[in-house]
Amino acid sequence: MPLPPWARRLDFARAGADEAFHARQRAARRSPVGRLHEEFAAEAERALREPGAPRCDAGHLDGGVLCVSLASCAARREHTLRELGAWGLPRRAPAVEADLEVLEWYNSDRVAKYPPCFRCGGIMTCLCPNNVLLVEQVANWLSFRRAWRTMAEGPHDWYLLVEDDVKFTRRAAECWNALVTPALLQRCSGLPCIVRCGWQLWWDYVDDLPPELAEGVVRMSNHCSVLNRSMAADLLQASDRLLSDTSDVFVHERVAPRHRISPCFPPSPTTSRARLQSRPPSDRRAPRVMTQTTPPQSTRRCASRRAPCGRGCSC
Ligand SMILES: [Zn+2]
Repeated sequence: MPLPPWARRLDFARAGADEAFHARQRAARRSPVGRLHEEFAAEAERALREPGAPRCDAGHLDGGVLCVSLASCAARREHTLRELGAWGLPRRAPAVEADLEVLEWYNSDRVAKYPPCFRCGGIMTCLCPNNVLLVEQVANWLSFRRAWRTMAEGPHDWYLLVEDDVKFTRRAAECWNALVTPALLQRCSGLPCIVRCGWQLWWDYVDDLPPELAEGVVRMSNHCSVLNRSMAADLLQASDRLLSDTSDVFVHERVAPRHRISPCFPPSPTTSRARLQSRPPSDRRAPRVMTQTTPPQSTRRCASRRAPCGRGCSC
């Protein structure tokens, strides 16, 4: 059986990496993720205070920014607007959220039910953590679908799509200005394309090599990516009948690999530490609002909570 794309391209080899570079990344793999968050946040603060430090040039992003958020999460949206503004990106980021349709979808045949497990397809053999799609995951899904619809039906070509806990790191402006250029967007215009700006913070953020686009490399960059109207339309159409993965797996492993994808290295936006701290215990992740035809079969804690799995997802 062929390896999935993320397994084939997990360890992207950076041009110019030497033994010292790899040693720094190996050390980062051994560091607690919380400590990395603190270190990167402090570095970003210092970078923003430097006189004359660059900011992101986003004048060519004609659609601006859309932010996936919940109406009840005003503080998180304020955080996102502060982050965007601090780095020179548009401060206006309309919130996109799902509403009552979440329950309609959740209780319909448009959301995969157990059995079988939506992750591995197994029934008796499944040992996956969280092997049913939860209400929260469906809400996240429908928020993204609403954002894609806004893009697909709107008059603009390119958008920055962020989740409301995005946090930029010290090289954000340098990487943005070097990689997300008018020339790149012009080259990709008309065909589905997604530029993965960043993902879950871990060892590959420890990277002082020059910015580089890695064509074809898969990373879970749901919380910060640049995509065009064609990509949004394809994502919308492909998820119209059935949700059978988490939204990040669907976007980045199922659909995006069929099109042009360009992760940025080093990745610069990541999630804020708040997400790490606010992850609920697994026993609170079960559906709370409506029942499914079959209750959750497994809500064991995913081992990758403490050390990210390396795919850049939130597992
Ligand atoms: Zn499974």
